Amino acid sequence: MSGVVIIGSGLGGYSLARELRRLDPAIAITVVTADGGEAYSKPMLSAAFAQGKDVAALAQKSAGQVEAELRLRVITRSRVTAIDRAARRLTLDGGEAIAYSSLVLAIGADPRAYRVAGSEDVTVHTVNDLDDYAVWRDGLIPGGRVLLIGAGLIGSEFANDLTTAGQRVSVVDPAPWPLGRLLPQELGDELATALGGIGVSFHLGRSITALEPGRAVLDNGAVVAFDKALSAIGLVPRTALAAAAGLVVDKGIVVDRWLRTSDPHVFALGDCAQTEAGPLPFVLPLMAEARALAATLAGNPTELRLPALPVVVKTPALPVAVCPPAPGAGGTWRVSGEGRDRKALFVGDDGRMLGFALSGGLTAERQSLAKEMPDLI
Ligand SMILES: Cc1cc2nc3c(=O)[nH]c(=O)nc-3n(C[C@H](O)[C@H](O)[C@H](O)COP(=O)(O)OP(=O)(O)OC[C@H]3O[C@@H](n4cnc5c(N)ncnc54)[C@H](O)[C@@H]3O)c2cc1C
Repeated sequence: MSGVVIIGSGLGGYSLARELRRLDPAIAITVVTADGGEAYSKPMLSAAFAQGKDVAALAQKSAGQVEAELRLRVITRSRVTAIDRAARRLTLDGGEAIAYSSLVLAIGADPRAYRVAGSEDVTVHTVNDLDDYAVWRDGLIPGGRVLLIGAGLIGSEFANDLTTAGQRVSVVDPAPWPLGRLLPQELGDELATALGGIGVSFHLGRSITALEPGRAVLDNGAVVAFDKALSAIGLVPRTALAAAAGLVVDKGIVVDRWLRTSDPHVFALGDCAQTEAGPLPFVLPLMAEARALAATLAGNPTELRLPALPVVVKTPALPVAVCPPAPGAGGTWRVSGEGRDRKALFVGDDGRMLGFALSGGLTAERQSLAKEMPDLI
């Protein structure tokens, strides 16, 4: 009996397993995962420190508890090294072979590597799963100095969280304001002011030219001293396993509206997948993908439909919600409001609203505005 094999126990893999078990009480499901198989909410990683939550508190369920609850098998600490599509069989790094009738890749994304002169002599952390978080949290000293590389969504969230928890955070980013790719200047400046107000020290419009143990030299000659360094400069979908198996990959593993790869027996979802709307590395799209794919795997082929889905940025210093326009969309931002409460609408060249960003009290409008936006798929 081969059944459905899911590679990955993140929100993508486990959401799919949960939906599939709900629709089909009997189908055989196996999850293979390189990590410990704990069920946890990844978005909490950039909000947990200020709430006093450590790794044990973040792990909501052990792999064994997931197995018992969903009546499936979870193979932990095992990496899939090859997919034999002709034989419909996986090879694990321990040598075990696993057969599948349908295979789902829910293998996530890798943090983009940060390289600069001297970086090979300095530990620059990234946090993209529970294991990373355990290592990162382990060495933080009370009131320590943190160098945060990147002021995007995850960098800004960590800056807020770590500062609230008493760390002294310096953020370096070549962009002139935080969330530079998601927000127009007015909102970005407001976010920088709010985070500055709780103690975050920004070096915006600046790059690091050299890293040495305990110090970063910036392109204006300034030196930032630090105890620990964290890079948050983006994620790259994991495509190597799929590419080696001959599946079509681009920025991510290319899937159609049924989350099907170029092999009809192999599917992909979550951070590793590239849908018709591009890679969508957020929780709400992933949940919609899991629901549609579960229905398909349970015998009811179901197309993915995705409305516009706003992302709430976890920066309590200034609440922000964004619904970014598609990459490369032509148009202009129209900003209204003042101070912390701003509304920015991204109006396309044809006059249609293609995206928005909200801050402060106006974030309450995100659901109603999202309904006015074009569907993603
Ligand atoms: C700090 C942080 C905060 C975030 N906050 C938000 C937020 O507020 N809102 C939001 O919408 N999104 C947020 N996101 C994004 C969101 O968390 C992700 O989109 C989502 O969790 C991705 O889930 P996934 O299952 O696709 O990938 P992952 O959770 O990365 O899971 C990948 C799984 O694949 C396994 N794996 C990989 N390769 C192999 C292999 N070869 N063999 C076996 N197993 C393998 C891994 O071990 C892992 O279990 C955040 C992300 C981060 C990092």
